[in-house]
Order: sequence, then structure tokens, then C-alpha cells
Amino acid sequence: MNYKALAERLLPGEYPPLSYYEEKYPPRTLPKGAEVTRLAPSPTGFIHLGNLFAAIANERIAHRSGGVLYLRIEDTDLKRKVEGAVEAVIKALHYFDIEFDEGAEIGGEETYAPWYQRQRAEIYRAYAKRLIEEGRAYPCFCTEEELTALREEQTAKKEITGYYGQYAKCRNLTEEEIYRNLDAGKPYVIRLKSLGNPENKIAFRDAVKGEITVTENDQDVVILKSDGIPTYHFAHAIDDHLMRTTLVIRGEEWLASLPIHIELFDALGFERPRYGHNCSLMKQDGETRRKLSKRKDPELSLEFYRKEGYFPRAVKVYMLTLLNSNFEEWYQKNPDADLAEFPFKVEKMSKSGSLFDLDKLNDISKNELSKLSIEEMSAFLKGWAEEFGTEAQRHYFDDAEKLGAVLSLCMGVGGKKRRKDLTTASQAMKFIEYFFERTPRTDEYRIGRDERRAILSEFLAAYDHSDDAQAWFCKVKEVAAAHGFATDMKEYKLAPERFKGSVADVAEVLRIATTGKANTPDLWSIMQILGEGEVHERLKQAKDE
Ligand code: GLU
Repeated sequence: MNYKALAERLLPGEYPPLSYYEEKYPPRTLPKGAEVTRLAPSPTGFIHLGNLFAAIANERIAHRSGGVLYLRIEDTDLKRKVEGAVEAVIKALHYFDIEFDEGAEIGGEETYAPWYQRQRAEIYRAYAKRLIEEGRAYPCFCTEEELTALREEQTAKKEITGYYGQYAKCRNLTEEEIYRNLDAGKPYVIRLKSLGNPENKIAFRDAVKGEITVTENDQDVVILKSDGIPTYHFAHAIDDHLMRTTLVIRGEEWLASLPIHIELFDALGFERPRYGHNCSLMKQDGETRRKLSKRKDPELSLEFYRKEGYFPRAVKVYMLTLLNSNFEEWYQKNPDADLAEFPFKVEKMSKSGSLFDLDKLNDISKNELSKLSIEEMSAFLKGWAEEFGTEAQRHYFDDAEKLGAVLSLCMGVGGKKRRKDLTTASQAMKFIEYFFERTPRTDEYRIGRDERRAILSEFLAAYDHSDDAQAWFCKVKEVAAAHGFATDMKEYKLAPERFKGSVADVAEVLRIATTGKANTPDLWSIMQILGEGEVHERLKQAKDE
């Protein structure tokens, strides 16, 4: 077979010699040990926790080594393309402080551009042409129907499905048959002619999992589709090589394709970058552990964390806890350190599944938020409210002094111990809502309606906004005593039957009347922040209810 003539017929025209691309995309000049790594999402518009997981690892590896993190868009499959998806990826990762050095919509070092695979079509075709010339790739004219029939036949025979060995019909077409098909204008794809044998095992050093064994590939995978656009497998091998990638961490769902990738790199004559396959994030579901699912688990989508208003550092701390086995200990010793100082190591990455637990993240979030200053907290909440808050919530920021007082009370600033009630921005905004809006009152009272009314009206009559906390509490106790409630908790505990209840029950009536809630920080302080007029209004309203 005259492969050269066939290559010319399939991909006519002058393509640059491959040395041209080698020179156009030269090895990078970076310090020794610097790693070049990447994220290569398809622009589907869905960016998930697994992407963030891998992104943090790649970002840390690149930046700790003085290397480069780039963003490549694998848009060879137009059906999956969504408008604005690239910006969404950049924005979603920016929230977690992950910045690319170069790439699609980023710019940066132009040498390795373009970063959209569709814009690199000519490069892939040049390499495909070479493989055809070498007899390592061939045209396949099988129709969808034929491929479906083949799959059904293989399934019925309980054989591995795919285009390989004796099933790779077009691999054995004669020169005459090929040209007859071409002359007839039959559509075709280009497939790799695999030389592998699945009985052979290859040793592969996975950057995360260590030494693993993979089976040789024997699938004649498609490298160029009928429209001349490459498949992901083919394009990524060429790009990882020409973009001078040195190490890639990606999800372990790509392990299954590794044999194909290994053969493609070999056929193309490229030295492979190192690949590390990161374990999937698992979730405990009753007795079993399963992968996080797009359908069942809203927390899989990165959008969830922005919408809920998770503090980015908290998510990052949790991801690093899962990513590196020694992170937790390091963080305990360095709770306020810049996370970039953590000596992230690929060798410390977990080889088997990581359990993702939202409760654990919530605990970390509470802890991280409790470390913020009032200014930092205000800025964080404001950023969230501007994007996701209600109209009313955006007004919480009108009076910075009031907001400051609210936050320091709710966060326990100035007290002996910082409070850890706040988990996310959305929850925190809800938590402070009653300072800014009149919220519905809970009906968890322990005291009946008539007595409540009497208590409220007596307290109202005695209320003096200029009372300090002590004087204020004396008045609460007076009302309590007048109604037969114990004012001394010790006394109450010794003989509860002697009282209707304790001063705590009376305070609760006042608390719910003022805030709507049965549990709040110090009530006197709340009343001070609300102001005299508002306190009167709320107590009156509750009394008249
Ligand atoms: N385009 C693939 C994806 O959508 C990238 C796989 C890889 O990292 O090689 O995840």
C-alpha cells in the first residue's frame, strides 16, 4: 500500500513538517524542577468539586515549583459546548484563589497559544497525516449502524466491545477498496492502527498511585472524526506534548483511557509527561460509599459553594485536608498561615477514595469565619449579598457602624471566646436578619398567652434604654418575681415546684418578642443595637398579637 499517496488523498495539501511544531512550541525555559501543569476542561458549563480538587493540586504543584499552570479548553465535541462556559470556569476557580498563568481567556505567554483545541485543528491533522504515511492510521468507513450492530454482536458474545482485532474491518481494506469508497464519497474517520495486545501488561508509574500495571491497548481508536476534528484522546496527547506539560493531576476516571494514551504517545514519538490519577470524592450514603453524583448531590457543583456563600479559604482548607495526608497536622500548627506556604507534595496524595463530608466542611467553615475581623466579615458578606442576596439584605450594609456592632456581638468579638455560629454567608445573613428586618416570631414559648402579655406590658413600662446590662436585668427579674418565677437559678433548681418557672422563661418571652428567636446572643446588647424606638415597637407588637 502506498501510504504516502493515501495520506495525501485523505489530508491533501502542504502541511508543515512536524519539526516546525517542535520549534514553534519549544521546550520551556524554566528553572530546574519547575512543573508545567494544566487544567483541560470541556466547555460544558458544569464545573464540579472534582475539578476543584484536581485544580488545587495542579495549581499547588505548578506554583510551588516556580512553574506554570495553564488553561486549555477541550472543545472538540461541539455538542457539549455551552456559551460562557470558559468564563464560568475561570470565575469559579478564581473564587478559590486559583489563578492561571496562561491560557484561554487568560492570555499570558503567547508561545503556546492558541488554547482552544478547535483553533489547533491544523496541528492535529499534520500529526494524523504523518501517522497515515507511516501506516499507523487508516480511514474507516463504517457507518453508525454498522458500529451499533458490531457492539450488539460483541455484547451478545460477551466480548469486549469496540473496534479492534478481527472486528476492525476497515483496517484490512485493500488499497482498491479504500479508493473505491473515497471515490464514492463515503464519509470516514481516521483510526489509529493499534499494535497492542491486551495480553501484555505495561508497568506505569502513576504520580499519585505509584507503580500500577495497565493492559496494552488494542482498540483502533478514532483520532480524527469525519469533520476532521480530533478526538479528545488524540488532541490531548499532542497538546500536552507541544505545550510542554510536565505533570498532570487528573481524575481517576481517566485511568480507563490510559492504555490508549500510552499507545498514542508512543505512536507519535513523544515523551510522556507524568500523569497522576487523583482518587474520586466519595460520599457516605447509609452503609455504603459512593461517588458524588450530579443528580443527587448539589454539593458536587462548584456553583453551590458560591451561592451558599462558603468562605473560599474554608473549602480550600478542606480540599487540602483531603488532598495531602499531612496537611491537617501542618494546619493545626499554622492556623493563620498563608495556605500557599504549605509544602504540598504529590507523594502525599491519597491513593484511594477520599470521603467528602459536608458536616466536616461546615465545621471548618465555622472555624474559619470565627477568625475573621469585623471588616473582613463585612466585606465577605457584602460580596455575597451583592451577587446572591435579596434587596433587603443589600441594605444591611447601609449603616456600617450598626453592622459592625451586630457582627461583633454575633461573632463574640471582644468576648473571651469567639462564637462559632456562622457557617456560610447565606446562613450568616439569615442569622443577623432580625437586626434589620422584623422576622416572624417562633411560637416555642413556655409561658401562656395572657401571662406573656402581662409580662411584656410590665417590662415595657419599666424599660429604660439607658439602663446598663445590670439595671436592665434587675428589671427583668422584678417582672419575673411579680409573676411567681424564680429569679435565682440555684434556688429554682433546688425546688422547682415552688415556682412557675425561672427568670430564663421570662427572658425568653422578651427575646422572642424582640428577635423572633428563642436563641440569640445577649439580649440587652441586641436591644442596644436595635435602638429604643424599635425595641418599643417590637415589644408592643408582640404584646398586642
Ligand atoms: N477534557 C477532559 C475533561 O473534560 C480532560 C481530561 C484530562 O485532564 O486529560 O475532563
